[in-house]
Amino acid sequence: MAWQEVVGHEAQIDRFRRNLRSGRLASAFLFVGPDGIGKQLFARKLTQTLFCEVNPEYECNPCGQCPVCLQVIKGTHPDLHYVELLPGTAEIRTAQIVGGAIRINDKEEHFPGVCYEVNLKPIRARRKVVIINDADSLNNTSTANLLKTLEEPPPGAVMILLGTSLSQQLDTIISRCQILSFNALLPEQIQQILLQQQVVDDPNEALELAMIANGSVGLARRYSESDLLETRRELLGLLTALPQQAEKLSAMVIGLVDGKSLSRREKMDQLDFLTSIVVTCFHQVALQLSGQPPSGDPVLIDVSRQIASAWPGDVETALACIDRTLETAYHGRANANVKTLVEVWVDDLSQIWLTGGFKLPT
Ligand SMILES: [Zn+2]
Repeated sequence: MAWQEVVGHEAQIDRFRRNLRSGRLASAFLFVGPDGIGKQLFARKLTQTLFCEVNPEYECNPCGQCPVCLQVIKGTHPDLHYVELLPGTAEIRTAQIVGGAIRINDKEEHFPGVCYEVNLKPIRARRKVVIINDADSLNNTSTANLLKTLEEPPPGAVMILLGTSLSQQLDTIISRCQILSFNALLPEQIQQILLQQQVVDDPNEALELAMIANGSVGLARRYSESDLLETRRELLGLLTALPQQAEKLSAMVIGLVDGKSLSRREKMDQLDFLTSIVVTCFHQVALQLSGQPPSGDPVLIDVSRQIASAWPGDVETALACIDRTLETAYHGRANANVKTLVEVWVDDLSQIWLTGGFKLPT
């Protein structure tokens, strides 16, 4: 039942199902994959599996409804210990691992430390579970202290570390954990989650959010609270008749990436966001020019169909637009003058469109 909430990680669920059936569960895991794809939810579902008072753990099928399953999801189960970055900090503090006091908002707070907690006798479950979110942010001292517990955990205890990639982890951690890789989600999977979690009600809007979220539910959620969808629709609308609307398109992009109040980082993020929309669109155009059906949300499909039907060139020329756009994003990061960069880029796209890729004499 409860695993149904986890979308898109069937192979990983299967692996635990096999492990639990055979009674061979490792004691330390490192889950790696991009942020916002459900690693944390997965870790909690696994904890429910181990703690559920209705279904035995070898069934790998937590009920999701019993008081214990609910406690796990709420984070209030006494045998589940959770570590994550404290607000405003860039590192997991050593006190969170080995115990000690940390000053938070002028108040001293005492942390028992997970290395201590995991060694206590379980209160309600048969074992202790520790989830360390943000494992990328463990500093050397925390890691050094954690190693002993990872190497010789108390009987039955399970430690789950969540990070974004193996390159962010020290070899000493990697060698003591079983590694599970989690992939970015497909747009349709993100759409399903957004609807399931009632982030939005409209399936088309959910798919639009999914298309710009780069495989991350976290990003899609954040985008749902901004006006980025409107921006995307406007940009795609201008692209449909690019040669006639080149000036408008330039002005729109420059207005968004060259605002005085924006930091350099924000400008680059905006340019990345806008260029990635154009890349996705020309990718769909190229697919259609090569006889394949488009995919994505209705807005993207509609716009890319219109462009493909008016496109005088071949697939290569649509791919040239992608290359030209990626180049622009690259130069934007390399500190080029954004205004000129955008104007030349949009002008080049118009020229490719108008001439079918035939280079005009200069
Ligand atoms: Zn249960």
